[in-house]
Amino acid sequence: MKLREFLRPASLPAARDNLRELGRKGMILAGGTALHFMQDHTPVTAVDITRLGLSYIRPEGDFYRIGATTPLAVIQRYRAPRWAMHEICRRISTHQIRNISTIGGNICRVFPWADLPVVLLAMNGRMVVYSGQETEYDADEYFASQPAKRFLDGNILTAVKVPALKAHHGFGSVKVVRTTAAFSMVTIACVLELEGSNIKAARVAAGSAIPFPRRLPSVEEALIGKEAVTAVFEEAARNAGKALPWRGREGMSTEYSRHLAEVSIQDALERATSFAQERTE
Ligand SMILES: Cc1cc2nc3c(=O)[nH]c(=O)nc-3n(C[C@H](O)[C@H](O)[C@H](O)COP(=O)(O)OP(=O)(O)OC[C@H]3O[C@@H](n4cnc5c(N)ncnc54)[C@H](O)[C@@H]3O)c2cc1C
Repeated sequence: MKLREFLRPASLPAARDNLRELGRKGMILAGGTALHFMQDHTPVTAVDITRLGLSYIRPEGDFYRIGATTPLAVIQRYRAPRWAMHEICRRISTHQIRNISTIGGNICRVFPWADLPVVLLAMNGRMVVYSGQETEYDADEYFASQPAKRFLDGNILTAVKVPALKAHHGFGSVKVVRTTAAFSMVTIACVLELEGSNIKAARVAAGSAIPFPRRLPSVEEALIGKEAVTAVFEEAARNAGKALPWRGREGMSTEYSRHLAEVSIQDALERATSFAQERTE
């Protein structure tokens, strides 16, 4: 992507006006780390949204509200009860990239290796989009297709709301890389709700080894109502292996990707169970 000019609007409405006037000749700029992944070399005007007061994390009712321009390094350092977003952020690229790359940039134009959509699908996060007024989308709706389409007409993502994990909720994530800071070969995230030793509800999502991040309904269905034990996790993970178009990445065969995904799903489920049990005992 080639930038010819920068605008630095002073408010959210002004940023939206700039973007609407520019149309296809303008683009939102947050951390700017994705520019070299974008193939289009038509010069555009960048509308910098990093000084609009959208960098923060704060508890808000049953959620943690994360401003869209909050850098990943800030999310990685944040700690609070019933919060687990730091886990995946510390595994994204290098610290230098995490210092400037924002949560909004990661989920507004989703690249195949993006890790945060996987976690937000598992956690059932909510995305807040400004179009003159704010509208909330749940993760299933927001990530149903490439979110970049939502932002063609001057709309701006302003925040992400991550549900605070309740008691008996366990979170687990696994990101497999060949070398530190490499793109993911497979990313899995899950949230389990336990009732005693049984699984009452489950959200399991995957990314990187499939064309676009998505939930894994066949895995979720195989978990609900069952005991949270390894044999059940193994059986559920096999469902994902059969059902999805896993594809080889980073030099791996498709068959290897599929196997890696199954093993990673089991690991994520084991982690989520330990997480929930440690919190309830
Ligand atoms: C070498 C390298 C390795 C990486 N590895 C990984 C990895 O393993 N896993 C991973 O998840 N990420 C990884 N990333 C980060 C990821 O690929 C993106 O570069 C990053 O998430 C973009 O964030 P940004 O703030 O820099 O966004 P920008 O580059 O500024 O913007 C990205 C896109 O989102 C749009 N946008 C940004 N903010 C908003 C908003 N608030 N509202 C509407 N549209 C908006 C922009 O217009 C642009 O189209 C890596 C990046 C690099 C450079």
